[in-house]
Amino acid sequence: MEIFSHALWSAGLAQLANRHLKVKHKHLRVRPILTAGWGIFPDVVVFAPVWAVYVWNLVSGKINYSQIPQHGQLGLVDTNTITRIFYSLSHSLVVFCVAMLLVVLFYRLFTGRKARRSSSLWAMLGWGLHILIDVPSHSYEYSATPVLWPISEWRFAQGIDWGTPAFLLFNFLALFLLYLFLWWSEPSKKRVKWDNPLA
Ligand SMILES: [Zn+2]
Repeated sequence: MEIFSHALWSAGLAQLANRHLKVKHKHLRVRPILTAGWGIFPDVVVFAPVWAVYVWNLVSGKINYSQIPQHGQLGLVDTNTITRIFYSLSHSLVVFCVAMLLVVLFYRLFTGRKARRSSSLWAMLGWGLHILIDVPSHSYEYSATPVLWPISEWRFAQGIDWGTPAFLLFNFLALFLLYLFLWWSEPSKKRVKWDNPLA
């Protein structure tokens, strides 16, 4: 999935989860913007250096614009060992679970507080959500998600590339419905009463 949809899905689902937390779980409400940050993190760590390399090569005249791979063509993520390792690290649920566990342990150790009460730590689930979204939205041939790396090289074979028109339409329609629902169910809206000037 492309990076903007990742940000929108993470923020939208975080907000949806917040709506369903009752008053006594108020402290668990996550900041959608922070969740969106974690939602784009797996791609930013891989693609920011990749794009920096392409821009550098473009500016220094080593390549021209037509040599920059377009979506669906094999790029540095598929052909360069270092970027492939970074892609595997940031797109593996195994790595994510280990990282989450370490963060939770260190948080508990250094703050003495219960990690499950920290909404900032819950926002980190945006990273896991990114991986889960990428599994069905990448084709087997193009940057398929190494979800079980380094335990297994298994990749989901039935994935549909997010760049295909039908998938894009489905994705943006689903996002539109999610945000429409969030807008429609906004609690503060229910408190606003129309002030009738004729009354
Ligand atoms: Zn990704």
